[in-house]
Amino acid sequence: MSENISVLGLGLMGSALAESLLAAGHRVTVWNRSPAKAQPLVAKGATAAATPAEAVGPSDLVIVCVLDYPAVREVLDDVSLAGRVVANLTTGRPAEARETASWAAERGADYLDGGIMAVPYMIAKPGALILYSGSQAAYDRHEQALAVMAEPRYVGTDPGLAPLLDLAMLTGMYGQIAGFLEAAALVSSAKYPLTEFTSTLLVPWLNAMAAGKPAMAAAMESGDHRTEVSNLEINRVGVDNLIRTFREQGVRPDLLIPMKTILDQRVARGLGHEGLSGLVEEL
Ligand code: NDP
Repeated sequence: MSENISVLGLGLMGSALAESLLAAGHRVTVWNRSPAKAQPLVAKGATAAATPAEAVGPSDLVIVCVLDYPAVREVLDDVSLAGRVVANLTTGRPAEARETASWAAERGADYLDGGIMAVPYMIAKPGALILYSGSQAAYDRHEQALAVMAEPRYVGTDPGLAPLLDLAMLTGMYGQIAGFLEAAALVSSAKYPLTEFTSTLLVPWLNAMAAGKPAMAAAMESGDHRTEVSNLEINRVGVDNLIRTFREQGVRPDLLIPMKTILDQRVARGLGHEGLSGLVEEL
């Protein structure tokens, strides 16, 4: 069913979201601080509004995707939102999401917070995911329209949950990038071809290692950190070896040192027999 939907914020992501909604046949009203960014969407059938208030006017569902949460408030502060659903797809912190949900409720709006797990070219394609939290009624009402942009996943009523899970996923990604950067520096120090190392050795290894994460998560949930794979004492010696090797090869081990710190702490507590899942207790 075709809906009236507003998209406020037409940067790279907001434009991709609006375009996907237009392509699915929705009536889309768009607004951006710099008006020129609305033109390509108008050419594809969107209606450009001169102000945020004008943009919100015809729509039940108001999607906002701007730089940060202060910008969200700046854009919507003087706009009447009573009876609307505000779906805020701007990236932010859980505390900001909760504050913004209260702020929206004071204005009579239903609030959904969204964490976009995709880059703009992935929008409306398989593999794109958007996490939502906040008003379940709002999510249920607009699930079909939300599904046009990316696979929608509703994670709970606490508005801070979608941004928290979004940030947790980014944390996993940055950890992987940190490992890749150190590995790349080490391999380059030996003048070994880095692309070949990455595609034929590292990526298959990382994929194999990723498969073990749900079992580690189950150990963290249960608090049972016994292991038949490799204990912390072995890993402590292993990471020590890595760091010494980096230094011998003239590579900075800076991104690995926090791992050594936490391994040393746990082993010093007499818990060297545990598996790596036990390290979560130190955090
Ligand atoms: P862009 O830099 O392309 O666009 C930023 C948008 O924010 C522009 O529309 C800009 O308006 C607007 N804006 C900034 N400050 C204000 C303000 N004070 N008042 C009104 N509008 C303002 O960023 P993206 O589109 O890439 O990102 C938008 C959001 O989407 C961010 O929160 C980002 O983290 C999130 N996101 C982006 C992803 C990506 O891969 N790009 C992936 C996942 C999430 P103007 O054009 O006038 O400058």
